[in-house]
Amino acid sequence: MKDSNFLKENNARHMWHPMAHPADSMANPPAIITGGEGVHIVDVDGHRTIDAVGGLWNVNLGYSCKAVKEAVTAQMDALPYYSTFRGTSNDKAIELSYLLQDFFAPDGLTRSFFTSGGSDSVEVALKLARQYHRIRGEGTRTKFISLEKGYHGTHFGGASVNGNSKFRNSYEPLLAGCYHIPGPYLYRNPFGITEPEALAQQSAAMLEREIGFQGANTVAAFIMEPVLGAGGVVPPHPTFMKLVREICDKHGVLLIADEVITAFGRTGDETGSRHWGVQPDFMCTAKAITNGYFPFGALMIHGRVAEVFEGSKGEGSVDSGYTYSGHPVGAAAAVAAVEETMRIKPWENAATLGPKLRAGLQDLARRHDIVGDVRGEGLMCAIEFVTDRKTKAPATGAAPLAFQKAAYEDGVMVRVSGNNAIFSPPLVIDQSHVDKILSATETGLNAMVAA
Ligand code: PMP
Repeated sequence: MKDSNFLKENNARHMWHPMAHPADSMANPPAIITGGEGVHIVDVDGHRTIDAVGGLWNVNLGYSCKAVKEAVTAQMDALPYYSTFRGTSNDKAIELSYLLQDFFAPDGLTRSFFTSGGSDSVEVALKLARQYHRIRGEGTRTKFISLEKGYHGTHFGGASVNGNSKFRNSYEPLLAGCYHIPGPYLYRNPFGITEPEALAQQSAAMLEREIGFQGANTVAAFIMEPVLGAGGVVPPHPTFMKLVREICDKHGVLLIADEVITAFGRTGDETGSRHWGVQPDFMCTAKAITNGYFPFGALMIHGRVAEVFEGSKGEGSVDSGYTYSGHPVGAAAAVAAVEETMRIKPWENAATLGPKLRAGLQDLARRHDIVGDVRGEGLMCAIEFVTDRKTKAPATGAAPLAFQKAAYEDGVMVRVSGNNAIFSPPLVIDQSHVDKILSATETGLNAMVAA
């Protein structure tokens, strides 16, 4: 490994980071991570912390998952690459599709289309949704509706259905025909509603209103995260996704569940859709499918949607795909990670420890006025920073960064996004890790007041 000074200097000089200003690496040098073990990471200076971010919501099984490491090494020896474009396939991709249809069968999702990551999975879902209607003779259905604050990756289609102007404005004009409705974000909602179920009904009514306003015969799909992730971890009331499913069915609109974060256990169930008792038409997955060890994604397709393509003539041809769709090393990593996931059932731990983490965060909120809201489902949680609880003015700028820095120095990596601190630790943490995450969070909160 190059020494610490070399890495810091060259990071600042030559490397541009996603979701960051290119000059920021100089002003706020990133933590340079060089090692990982269990639920811990180690930086270039040897500082060891609990990774309460779980990589980027993806290292669900931690950094020492031997099964995935061995599968990757063995596959590199056997076959490091072969494509799955028409006319060829590879054994690991086939094995993975067999395993996934088993894992996702309760969600009705029996076909996989492999991708290189979450943004790719979203992009192909949007395309196939339009194509589905076209095959059925409803080619006027081209529009997409999504939630404000939703995050659906960075490609042009995904950015167009993204519900956060920060990820949209620099790249406009985006895809035409994408519309947004206010989501079930209780802490800040434009209706002044304070009761979660009433807000779920109101948000669902907004969806139906928008479909009607656009004309149902022009709407291809509604896309949503079962629990909004990057937008600040916003769990809806348990009735919301069911209401959405009913409205979509009533108007012939497809439902795309973007489960890039929520599939494979994070919400406390195998998938977010199952958590809410809903079968989507498409499910976008990536991230934890390989435990984060290899870039890979899978768009899962419901049997009833798949049959429309499979029973069609030429118009059902999937004229989209990636060089790395079904990459054998990625597929081997995914087979091992999904098998480990099915064996360990980490959603059970997420369902037990998530509420404990949230209770601890709520306790901190009672003592620290800067915390305006605590939210979460399973092991995805957020605290929202405000300068004033009455006005709910967001605390941004130096204060959240001071929080992150102090928590990190105290031994816990937490991610700050806007005025939210986000917690998505590996699902294999135990109570002692939860306790440490809470004590470092308190250190961070104390540092914010001083900042
Ligand atoms: N959808 C959701 C819900 C996500 O959280 C993300 C990534 N955070 C994406 C899509 C994009 O995935 P990727 O970064 O792998 O392209």
